[in-house]
Amino acid sequence: MVTYVMLQAFLRAACGIFFPDNCLLCRRFLNSRHQRQLCPDCLECLEFNPKTASTAVGFAFDQAWSACLYNDTAKKLLHAFKYNAKTSLSKTFVALMIDFIDRHRLPFNEFDLITPIPLHPARLRERGYNQSLLLSLGLSRHYGIAHTQTLLARRKMTHTQTELGAKQRWTNMEGAFRMKTSTDLAGKNIVLVDDLFTTGATLNAAAQTLKDAGAGRVAALTFSITV
Ligand SMILES: [Zn+2]
Repeated sequence: MVTYVMLQAFLRAACGIFFPDNCLLCRRFLNSRHQRQLCPDCLECLEFNPKTASTAVGFAFDQAWSACLYNDTAKKLLHAFKYNAKTSLSKTFVALMIDFIDRHRLPFNEFDLITPIPLHPARLRERGYNQSLLLSLGLSRHYGIAHTQTLLARRKMTHTQTELGAKQRWTNMEGAFRMKTSTDLAGKNIVLVDDLFTTGATLNAAAQTLKDAGAGRVAALTFSITV
């Protein structure tokens, strides 16, 4: 009798024959079961952020942590993750973020909630998924910290920030978020997750909204940071 498990195994093997795994960046064939997305050479090109943490002077969040530097490799991967629907890359990103968090013994157990930076509904419809949510869910599962995506809503459809100067980015983000419901966050320590830290304007606006709702400590955690 063909069981569901057997069928699953057969389909997996068949997919491996017809669609062998190739490195997402250089297309090199990946022959190991463990190398699912990037070959060792491309993985090596990602650079961990040498700075463990920053006390966030002038920001609404209290700490900022970023696992990797936004070098050419990180840039290509994040582009594929956000604009080419390579959502499975979240596994690699989450693994690298966990590696960074554990290696530097970041005090994750002091936080009560993990939440992603939300996308504007129009952007979500266009993209089909929120890339930051994929990261925050992976981290929540790994550390067993409660996850919520119902805290913040984006009320401003901000256009791509990459071409804006630092000052414009800050003005652009003012009042960009609101609380979805009137949740009492008194004493709650929250980790805000995003894919990329550039000027910190987006994370700052979101952290400010959480602080205004009574949140205790807010940490900003991203996969990558511009250098
Ligand atoms: Zn490669």
